[in-house]
Amino acid sequence: MNACKILLTNDDGIYAPGIIELANALHGAGNEVTVVAPDRERSSVGHALTLNRPIRLWEADRGGYVPGVHLFSCDGTPSDCVVLGVETAAKETNLVISGINRGPNLGDDLTYSGTVSAAMEGLILGKGAIAVSLNCQRSDTVHHYPTAAGVVLRILEWLRCHELSKEVLLNINVPNLEKEKISGFEITRKGLRTYEGKVTQFRSPHGILSYWIAGRPEDEMKEGTDVYAVAHGKVSITPVHLDMTHFPSIERLRQDGLESLRL
Ligand code: MN
Repeated sequence: MNACKILLTNDDGIYAPGIIELANALHGAGNEVTVVAPDRERSSVGHALTLNRPIRLWEADRGGYVPGVHLFSCDGTPSDCVVLGVETAAKETNLVISGINRGPNLGDDLTYSGTVSAAMEGLILGKGAIAVSLNCQRSDTVHHYPTAAGVVLRILEWLRCHELSKEVLLNINVPNLEKEKISGFEITRKGLRTYEGKVTQFRSPHGILSYWIAGRPEDEMKEGTDVYAVAHGKVSITPVHLDMTHFPSIERLRQDGLESLRL
């Protein structure tokens, strides 16, 4: 991949610090960057597309973006942004990057993540696709977005001489550390992350029973997984493909007679 025409989006909103840091770094490295990003936070919307109302795209105020970055705000989801970007505002796109997300996208976060879903949409539209997230927690006072932006630049340099498979996106998670403290890059598989205490019950001021979905992440620390790599200070790179078919089950379900059912 030589001249990089990048469509950049996220799910934290167009003025989130992660996407601004990455846009400016990509532009500074000589790439043509078009940002098409949601006008508000859309974390955890997954791969949703807006089909039941019109959506708009408009030239956004520059905010913290350097001159030269093309800027469009959208009142749709992250995946809407990728569709509109590729089809209208940035037709020449050869790479879709989503991030830098505030917080990790590890283990089964992938299925909820607006960040990773936007990269999936890029892949579906035939583009190279990268999702990048910073492994920071709500309690962290410093967010090392420059470290994550530096990681993306290194990977783009690597991509000048190597081809990404058309069936695979890269899901990158970067430890929330200064770049000198990163212990390396590791190719990983999706780990296991479950959430404890997922539902908190409370009463609204009007006495109505209500619920808040959140929870503490609990990781299964197995070597070779994304959760393990970032916990050990490494940049985790997981190749993700969209075919969710569990191939071994095809034969097994046949053998167990599931195809022999008759109505
Ligand atoms: Mn987010």
